[in-house]
Amino acid sequence: MKPFCFADGQIIPTESATIHPMDLGLIRGYGIFDFFRTVNYKALFLDHYLDRFIASAKKTYLSLDYSRDELKGIIQELIDKNDLKEGGIRMVLSGGMSENHFSPGKGKLYIFAESLIFPSQQKYEQGVKLLSLEYVRPIAEIKTTNYALAVWHSAQWKQQGAEDVIYHLNGYISESSRSNFFIVKDGVISTPDRHILMGITRKHILELAENVEVRPITMQEALAADEAFITSTTKVLLPVTQIDDLKIGNGKTGPVSLDLLERFKKMEKELCG
Ligand code: PLP
Repeated sequence: MKPFCFADGQIIPTESATIHPMDLGLIRGYGIFDFFRTVNYKALFLDHYLDRFIASAKKTYLSLDYSRDELKGIIQELIDKNDLKEGGIRMVLSGGMSENHFSPGKGKLYIFAESLIFPSQQKYEQGVKLLSLEYVRPIAEIKTTNYALAVWHSAQWKQQGAEDVIYHLNGYISESSRSNFFIVKDGVISTPDRHILMGITRKHILELAENVEVRPITMQEALAADEAFITSTTKVLLPVTQIDDLKIGNGKTGPVSLDLLERFKKMEKELCG
């Protein structure tokens, strides 16, 4: 965590940020957030993340008392004050205090600056294993702070040498706990179309890829794919070479995934220098 954050309407030392113990964020797990990266002091795809954050607030009936331009101003100030050349910015809007301890209250906005550690080079080169889990995230299109199942289940996936989970229900895959999922088969890149968070990385990968399909994807298809990968702000694109005990394709990272990762990095460089 970096030294300065935004809380209670001002930039303050991060260590003095507080929240009421009866905030719905704590007692009901009700709140929203978003997270983006800074590259060379610039917030990558900032407008896309702000679009999603503002939409999440609206959909969860939480009032956001700051305009897009005000948020941009605060974010820039935080990047400068924290000297955040490469890092992460986390915006959190808590459920707030509520008379009946249930209905959405007046959300409290926090913006934090963080350092960021990418997965190891070895994971990008060798790919990772996902553990399948029968589940679909509730109100999946909203970026809520509810990751309780994933946090709880993470002990199991770590024990079994997996990087993360892959959620599936009735035979259909949705996403991983904090990333979107893609498969590659005969040169066609496909990703699920529903019960997912519309990832900003996913969106840009879809724009960079030529041969894409956005549609329901079964677990069977994933297991029979040539390549698979997950995408997220903090991982960009990480090859998936195994689900449970089954290898994907030849069990090695594939050329389509690696090419897309390179193209994403190039785009990032063009945008942020
Ligand atoms: N799906 C879920 C459930 C997530 O929490 C995230 C990111 O945190 C993603 C997908 C990937 O979204 P993005 O690329 O915007 O980081």
